[in-house]
Amino acid sequence: MGFCLFNNIAVAARAALARGIQRLAIVDCDVHHGNGTQDIFATEPRVMYVSSHQSPLYPGTGRTSEEGVGNVVNIELPPGTSSMHFREMYRERALPALRAFQPELILVSAGFDGHRLDPLANLNLVAEDYAWITRELLALPSVKGRMLSMLEGGYSLTALYECTRAHVHAMFE
Ligand SMILES: [Zn+2]
Repeated sequence: MGFCLFNNIAVAARAALARGIQRLAIVDCDVHHGNGTQDIFATEPRVMYVSSHQSPLYPGTGRTSEEGVGNVVNIELPPGTSSMHFREMYRERALPALRAFQPELILVSAGFDGHRLDPLANLNLVAEDYAWITRELLALPSVKGRMLSMLEGGYSLTALYECTRAHVHAMFE
């Protein structure tokens, strides 16, 4: 329900499944909940959808209680969320769920509107947080370096530049 005509990440996920990937995870760090992506995969046990997003914020979905068929992990971040809290939530909820799910491929909905400079939201993240999560995801034993990332939100051009650079650098470390 954002600014998208096609859900690129969902098309990529379906294409990967059609080509023989058994289990994949979509990790959505965009500050807005990916309600379309969740809706598409909520009943698809081969796909885990992990979203961290500001709550409350548009579009208003993505409550912790929305769990799909056990394949959806929603992390609600209050306005003002710091790097420390963001990383704690990934360490405590997202990463253990992903480790247990054992995805062969990670698709990242790489929205950088959680950066503290972003004018549409109120989180206090910095570029290094996105590098950190990139490294953590790539370190999952089942992933073996298979990560595909698609640029999503980000409405401060300075933050978008810094975060994209940090994310891509971390992918190639
Ligand atoms: Zn967004």
